[in-house]
Amino acid sequence: MGMGKYINVDNTKPPVSTSDKFKRFVKRTFKPELFIGLGVVFREMVRKDSNHTMFYPMEKVQIDARYRGVHKLLRVLESGNERCIGCGLCEKICVSNCIAMDTHLGDDGRKKVSNYSINFGRCVYCGLCADVCPELAIVHGGDYEFSSEQRAYYGFKNDLLTKKDELKNQVEFEGYGSLPVDSSDKVKFTPTSYIQKEESKDKE
Ligand code: SF4
Ligand code: SF4
Repeated sequence: MGMGKYINVDNTKPPVSTSDKFKRFVKRTFKPELFIGLGVVFREMVRKDSNHTMFYPMEKVQIDARYRGVHKLLRVLESGNERCIGCGLCEKICVSNCIAMDTHLGDDGRKKVSNYSINFGRCVYCGLCADVCPELAIVHGGDYEFSSEQRAYYGFKNDLLTKKDELKNQVEFEGYGSLPVDSSDKVKFTPTSYIQKEESKDKE
């Protein structure tokens, strides 16, 4: 192995006298990088077109659709029924063990979710619950303004579920875990349905 592979270790002896210690302190504290950094900060502070400072809460950042904010439970748009079928996958996969649910058998013989809660004090917003949900029932919304006075703070089903009268405002691409708006275009067709589709295109 050539010498170029080795790194020189600074083996200068530590200062002994007080004056040498003071010199080392000054040298370490007032490095030119410090003033370069302060210069950049000061320049941005006084620059008229600087857009680094946002006047929150009057101004708010545009949240990306894939931002993992506070969870939402969605409804089926057409019927207004709850999408959650109480399968429990989200509860099982949750790394923080913060999802809890109660289920019961409905009159129609189907499983219904009586209670659903997320302890937001424990949640790490990893998104696994939204990823695993087979019904696209639980998604992350864009809400990030969230605080509580206690460490344990629960979001309950009624808080998370889309209100019936607000169903018309529930958009399909609501957040992390949902289908993207162009998801239908990405579906792979079976060969038969592909041929049928192409034939119907030719007839038009
Ligand atoms: S985002 Fe992660 S930690 Fe939070 S409830 Fe979902 S799985 Fe649990
Ligand atoms: S994974 Fe989805 S459908 Fe299953 S219990 Fe959780 S939210 Fe409901």
